[in-house]
Amino acid sequence: MLRLPVITLRETLLQKVCFRKPSVIDCSVNQVTLRNLSTSQAVHRAAGGCQEDALTQEYDAIIIGAGHNGLTASAYLQKAGLKTLVLERRHVIGGAAVTEEIVPGFKFSRCSYVLSLLRPEIYEELELKKHGLRVHVRPAGAYAPLLGESAGLSRPTSLLLSSNAKNTYDQIAQFSEKDAKEYFVYSEIIEGIGAAIGPLLDSPPVDLSSLGDGSFKDRMEMWPAIKTLLKTGSQIGKNLPMFYELLTAPVAKILDRWFESEPLKAILATDCITGAMVSPQTPGAGYVLLHHVMGEIEGVKHAWAFPEGGMGGVSQSIANAAQSYGATIMTEKPVDTIMLDSDQKACGVVLEDGTEIRSKMVLSNATARITYLNLTPQEALPKEFIQDVQAIDYTSPVTKINVALDRLPNFKADPNLASGVPGAHHTSTIHLNCESMDRITASYEPCTRGEIYHRPMIEMCIPSSLDRTIAPEGCHVATLFTQYTPYHLANGEKWDERKMNEYADMVFDNIEDYCPGFKSSVVGRDILPPPELERIFGLTGGNIFHGAMSLDQIYFGRPVTSAASYRSPVEGLYLCGSGAHPGGGVMGAPGRNAARLASKDLEKRGKRR
Ligand SMILES: Cc1cc2nc3c(=O)[nH]c(=O)nc-3n(C[C@H](O)[C@H](O)[C@H](O)COP(=O)(O)OP(=O)(O)OC[C@H]3O[C@@H](n4cnc5c(N)ncnc54)[C@H](O)[C@@H]3O)c2cc1C
Repeated sequence: MLRLPVITLRETLLQKVCFRKPSVIDCSVNQVTLRNLSTSQAVHRAAGGCQEDALTQEYDAIIIGAGHNGLTASAYLQKAGLKTLVLERRHVIGGAAVTEEIVPGFKFSRCSYVLSLLRPEIYEELELKKHGLRVHVRPAGAYAPLLGESAGLSRPTSLLLSSNAKNTYDQIAQFSEKDAKEYFVYSEIIEGIGAAIGPLLDSPPVDLSSLGDGSFKDRMEMWPAIKTLLKTGSQIGKNLPMFYELLTAPVAKILDRWFESEPLKAILATDCITGAMVSPQTPGAGYVLLHHVMGEIEGVKHAWAFPEGGMGGVSQSIANAAQSYGATIMTEKPVDTIMLDSDQKACGVVLEDGTEIRSKMVLSNATARITYLNLTPQEALPKEFIQDVQAIDYTSPVTKINVALDRLPNFKADPNLASGVPGAHHTSTIHLNCESMDRITASYEPCTRGEIYHRPMIEMCIPSSLDRTIAPEGCHVATLFTQYTPYHLANGEKWDERKMNEYADMVFDNIEDYCPGFKSSVVGRDILPPPELERIFGLTGGNIFHGAMSLDQIYFGRPVTSAASYRSPVEGLYLCGSGAHPGGGVMGAPGRNAARLASKDLEKRGKRR
């Protein structure tokens, strides 16, 4: 937990301004059901039995890591009748889908902050609503306040894209009537492509190694995946050229052809580059854009929402489902090694404290790099496979800053109402330094040299504008997703406390330009550059997706072409996190797909109870 001096400086003031009564820090993921218990106690108690008992039993499946994918895998395995144990190294479940109360009274979605991608099948099959998931659907998707001088305008103005078609048309038409018309055609095509590839997310990818070298039986096993692939191709149909272009061309080239107004192009470009070390000029970044239009929330296509209580609410509801089926989930249990039997098959894990726990199979929610290079005995893996894993690209430009505010941000371009009620723009993703694609490219280039541009790309969300359970009365939480910040800084500089504070101060100065009074409203902050994302959350390289979502690292290239179907070269060892197909995002698909495949394999091995 990072507590920086600014918190202590303003703590007394905060108590006066925001608190009705003093609060203690409680880092449990679900403040409603787990209040007054540490998370590990609460999770353990909900699972029943005593800790020692749980560690001495033998399991059908052990899952390393309680990220939302590990929890999803555990729920499906346990529901299928397999005795399942989840072991998490942190004191809290959720991985990058977590809520933590870093500043008293303020609940931060410390990493991921908006929900859309969670597969609807998981929502239904695990009855997540019944297990406590509540969402606040956002009425508006994207808002860009524009600095007058940089946007070539005489006054501060803004662009708001919302679910209201008429308003969105009018907003875009401020800049270009032509773009306002084209926008709806463009969106329909992109959303159509997104819908067509949806089914690909819910099944394992075609495994190239089985297809090439596998037995007839192995090849036949690939048939459902091949059929899904063919169906997707036929559904994309006449939009295939656009799909191909998205996968291969620079997004700037595509958007320049469709649109003429820079603010619109810049907002749309952010969907392709969020979380990726690419600029609008980099070829082949478009796949991430599709990731942004594949989601739905409670039946509303392409909607994005703030889960109540923060993103930890999603993980907690999945954990509640898993526990209701009988799964055991334990925190503060870091796994050191995956155990292999004399036939080199996975047969359990050894914890860092030396405790051995046996199981018929092991699923890892950790990144592929951690799973295969740190936890698996190297002699069990082919040399080429190790080299493939070493070559995975984990570069990340993201620094996340979570901020506690004593008032609602007030944007120059759209001043707050006297009533203090948040506007639609407060509920959306607020894009700053997003006046043009060139501006985004300018902030990318220094990062390639280990430097940080003075006007980084900033995406601000204010979840407390819809969810009043996460901040004291009158106060707000803002999440700042910023890029481009290198993991390795130039000139031997380190991401120490001084550097992190210096960067956050610069980001706040930028926000102040759009939102006067922002800096003085900050009462606490949590700064997470790439090395901190790696250290705290186990995200290799700080990469938010467990590895870049570039064309060579998706579908049958994820995590590596020689092991793209969740299986690994070690029998009984599977990858069930975002490092596997279909990749990053709070989606649950890797966990669900891996669990279904592993469960079938166990049945084939005749080891089912
Ligand atoms: C800053 C940031 C912002 C993001 N924003 C969004 C967003 O708004 N919307 C969205 O959909 N996605 C977003 N993402 C991406 C998304 O959060 C991740 O892709 C996803 O949550 C990863 O889930 P996972 O379960 O695969 O892995 P993780 O959440 O990384 O979970 C892996 C778990 O394994 C544990 N672990 C690792 N090693 C061991 C070990 N040896 N023993 C025991 N446990 C271990 C880790 O502690 C961790 O809990 C964001 C990510 C980040 C970092």
